[in-house]
Amino acid sequence: MKPPQTSSAHVLIFPCPAQGHVNSMLNLAQLLALRHLHVTFLNTEHTHNRLTRFADIESLLARYPTLRFKTIPDGLPEEHPRSGERAAEPLLSLKVHGKPLLRDILVKEKVTCLVADGLFAKLANDMAEEVGVATIHFRTIGASCFWTYFWAPYLFQSNELPVTGEEDMDRVITSIPGMENLLRCRDLPSFFRPNRDTGKPHVHFETVVSETQQSLRASAVILNTFDDLEAPALSHIRRHFPTIFTVGPLHQHRESRAPTSITTSNNSMWEEDMSCMEWLDSHPFRSVIYVSFGSLTTMTKESLMEFWYGLVNSKMRFLWVVRSDMITAGEGKDESVPAELVEGTKERGLMVGWVPQVEVLAHKSVGAFMTHCGWNSTIESVVAGVPMVCWPYFADQQVNSRLVSDSWKVGLDMKDVCDRNVVENMVNDVMVNRKEEFLQSAEKLAILARKNVSEGGPSYDNLDRLIEFIELISQK
Ligand code: UDP
Repeated sequence: MKPPQTSSAHVLIFPCPAQGHVNSMLNLAQLLALRHLHVTFLNTEHTHNRLTRFADIESLLARYPTLRFKTIPDGLPEEHPRSGERAAEPLLSLKVHGKPLLRDILVKEKVTCLVADGLFAKLANDMAEEVGVATIHFRTIGASCFWTYFWAPYLFQSNELPVTGEEDMDRVITSIPGMENLLRCRDLPSFFRPNRDTGKPHVHFETVVSETQQSLRASAVILNTFDDLEAPALSHIRRHFPTIFTVGPLHQHRESRAPTSITTSNNSMWEEDMSCMEWLDSHPFRSVIYVSFGSLTTMTKESLMEFWYGLVNSKMRFLWVVRSDMITAGEGKDESVPAELVEGTKERGLMVGWVPQVEVLAHKSVGAFMTHCGWNSTIESVVAGVPMVCWPYFADQQVNSRLVSDSWKVGLDMKDVCDRNVVENMVNDVMVNRKEEFLQSAEKLAILARKNVSEGGPSYDNLDRLIEFIELISQK
């Protein structure tokens, strides 16, 4: 299909205010703007301030004349915590305060199509219906987790839910179509676990399930995945959601579509410490394990020490992202670091606050990725052909790490364990003992990922179809 020179469509893209969501939806925004669609990207003020500081928004706007940003407040004070157990608070606050603001923008800006984060599914459906605008939902999680959320009510019918507690964690879930016997209870999304103290359902369980059902009301659903990666879940999803656009991996898709004259942006909400690239340059081929737990994970000082000892004891070189807000308030423990960790880190490690992750994963010195398995990190590792050691924190990450270890066989899953010996052994397994096996599978997957977003590939074609679809529903 020939790209239109001008488009009458005006798309409002509205992500959940968190790095992973903003990242993938901003990649989509750029892909639409490359095809001359008018795109307004709606951020919270907090998110936009961070992007303005760290993501070079100015040059992004200069590159894409049909792209602009608008902001709304998230209803929280600037210094309000937005990670770890408080990660959902901006979203919850927006659901309460955002309604009239969203309605206003849809009307005043003459929006013809709302592409809303699926975490806002009900809010988006209600507002768009009220003002007569078509809605498409964008889910920033993988298809397998989306499908698991969708199937949750049926798991109650087959008596596979609820999960009763710790003793139930290794029970195998048999009845998710396409994913039969893949997940144990511990591999279900973290919101499927009961509250540890009260035994009651997780506070977010009902919401994630009902928001997923709300996507049945949308005109279409966009997923940042590719058909070869999650074929079983996708084949079942397509029976319930007839209009699904798999257009991922979006960061690679953007890279493959953008003319070489357009340099890509990092979409980063944190300041990147570029010294890590020089450090990587100075090390041998595939000799470094890159460690990062994303933008929202928090951990105790005790857990940090288990990882730190495990990494130092593995004797591997490591590059570790430790965000300034990653460690939860100390339990009055000694703040000093044991001499053997200081020494081991000086010899073989580098700890920084934030890195350009896609570039790091593509660096020749990186041999493996210890990750929390956020969906962006997972597919970025897949594209780079880098094997993983997974330590999922919450939400979809429990499912993703199971895919890594058991479906794609590109790494190991250490979920629910935080022990220095396990860290040491798994790092040695991916970097040395089982290196070839994991690398071979990871390279095969990386080739498929690139094929999917190259001309003629399914994700490439689906993006063209998506743009035609947006044009069509915008005319109605
Ligand atoms: N990221 C980055 N630099 C870092 C750590 C993370 O650029 O030092 C990016 C990473 O590339 C990914 C995003 O932050 O695109 C994190 O999203 P993900 O879905 O993996 O996890 P979340 O942060 O939502 O838990």
